[in-house]
Amino acid sequence: MFKLIQKFAWIATALLLVAFLFAGLSTAVKKPQKITLNDLALKIDAEEVQKMNLSDNVITAELKNGDKVTAIKESGAGIIETLKNYGVDPEKTRQVAFEIEQNSAKSVIIGVIIPTLIPIIVIVALSLFLMKKFSSGTNQAMMFGKANIHLFANLKEKISFKDVAGLKEAKQELIEVVDFLKNPKKYIDLGAKIPRGVLLMGPPGTGKTLLARAVAGEAGVPFFHISASEFVEMFVGVGASRTRDAFKTAKQAAPSILFIDEIDAVGRERGSGLGGGHDEREQTLNQILVEMDGFDREENVIVLAATNRPDVLDPALLRPGRFDRRVVLDMPDIAEREEILSIHSKNKPLEDDISLRKVAERTPGFSGADLANLANEAAILAAQQDKNKISQQDIMDSIEKVLLGPARKSKIISDKERKITAYHEAGHALVGAAMPESDPVHKISIVSRGRTGGYTMRLPLEDQSLKTKRQFIADLATIMGGRASEAETFDDISTGASEDLKRATELARNLVMKYGMSDKMGQMTFGDTEEAIFLGREITTEKNYSEKTAAEIDSEVRRFIDEAYEKARSVLKEYKEALQKTAEALIEKETLEQKEFYDIVGQYGLKERKK
Ligand code: ADP
Ligand code: MG
Ligand code: ZN
Repeated sequence: MFKLIQKFAWIATALLLVAFLFAGLSTAVKKPQKITLNDLALKIDAEEVQKMNLSDNVITAELKNGDKVTAIKESGAGIIETLKNYGVDPEKTRQVAFEIEQNSAKSVIIGVIIPTLIPIIVIVALSLFLMKKFSSGTNQAMMFGKANIHLFANLKEKISFKDVAGLKEAKQELIEVVDFLKNPKKYIDLGAKIPRGVLLMGPPGTGKTLLARAVAGEAGVPFFHISASEFVEMFVGVGASRTRDAFKTAKQAAPSILFIDEIDAVGRERGSGLGGGHDEREQTLNQILVEMDGFDREENVIVLAATNRPDVLDPALLRPGRFDRRVVLDMPDIAEREEILSIHSKNKPLEDDISLRKVAERTPGFSGADLANLANEAAILAAQQDKNKISQQDIMDSIEKVLLGPARKSKIISDKERKITAYHEAGHALVGAAMPESDPVHKISIVSRGRTGGYTMRLPLEDQSLKTKRQFIADLATIMGGRASEAETFDDISTGASEDLKRATELARNLVMKYGMSDKMGQMTFGDTEEAIFLGREITTEKNYSEKTAAEIDSEVRRFIDEAYEKARSVLKEYKEALQKTAEALIEKETLEQKEFYDIVGQYGLKERKK
């Protein structure tokens, strides 16, 4: 908006300047000498005047010798009469050629036309400018159907498969695609069907966009990139026409790759009514389907699409001839995490003794994007300390920052709150250490980060995909350990455990309803849950059991939680002194590393579980 005002001011200034120039010019043309009316009368009397011109009250006289003079008469009085009053013979006045201008042309321009024209010009200029702004700026409102296609083929930093760590199967699948684009004949001769669409699916940050760009780099064919969320804009119908445009551009450049990022923005199951405004989405989706069906057999365009919500995609998109190839990108495992870290620390000076393996061990659940972020945070941390190399400690310290947001050391908490938090976290840690099936404690901290007051980090000894009932029960007890410790120590409980309770309830509910781990409810599941698997969030749960069953489920969930709580309390009673020592160490140091913690509790017979 500020820019607009600025621009407007420029236009107005320019116009004013023009107007002044005009006015200046009209006076600058002739510079007649000013004389008194008396002198003029004398000149007329002496027959020196050739011509006179009266405009308003200004008399301009042209003398016989070519000079020009002006004089002002008083308004209201006639000229002949005025001159007569100055003693001029009316006869002599009459001999002078005389012209009267009511309003001279010049004064009309200056006095009337310009003042009326300026606002008109300003308004026209302004509206033209606004129109241009509107069309080029935010939404291309005036250019409805043009797709925002980005050509990545000539990107400066070319990305290849080398820059993508892990993702072996995904790469394998895409290498075929690349090969197909390079040597289509080889495949067609053997009667192989051309793959049309490849859908990359995986949680956010696992490298879908990166991989698609790598395909472009490898194939060396034009690569068109469009984000489906750009399709859906202000006007209904824009998305469809943009889709048409995008496909047309890709076909003209064939062999080529068209990459539609975040296709779930338009590809949601039609008629599901989620998110509203799905008319526009449906039209866009339909257009994509039409375009994909419209490919000729020989046409050499491959459509890549990416999504982190394959579960919500319209089944029509996944039918043969459309996105019939699906490539799953998983969260990286420990070896892949190490590889990603090494890719992202390639141009960062690391200290010699650094072990990226150790970092990878500490970062289960980190996506590629998180790890890239971690490498960057570590570099920032090292730079802030004016070091010229990144140390292991810098990376380790950055893990929590990436995990939980920047530390809030400045947040003031009272000593009492610190004590409560310390005992709460020590409670989690102790129960965790005491239960043989629980994951080992990696770190305990009462430094508040993001939304949490403190945290206890427990990490599995190895990546695991199956969990047992005993592990779940150990987890439940550990989660309840925070509140149990507060109750044991202070004989009172705080709101600090509300997140814990939420997690415990969810876990217990899953035990009963999803995993069939409740003896009473038996080996069956309850509730038909449509789940957004990658977001881990449930969208809708259809209740397919009776009210009576619902009550039974609730009481089973409660039993699991109650038993876990009792277990936690009995553990804490048994290790009361260990709890106290741990909490005191926490209050003093704020953070306890794995070894520090097990050094304390080791004195009370709690040993670190090893592989
Ligand atoms: P997505 O599109 O799946 O959400 P991106 O492709 O945008 O994820 O990944 C974000 C960033 O994370 C990438 O630019 C890259 O720096 C990093 N990254 C993710 N996965 C990998 C990987 N497998 N190898 C190397 N870097 C990765
Ligand atoms: Mg992406
Ligand atoms: Zn807690």
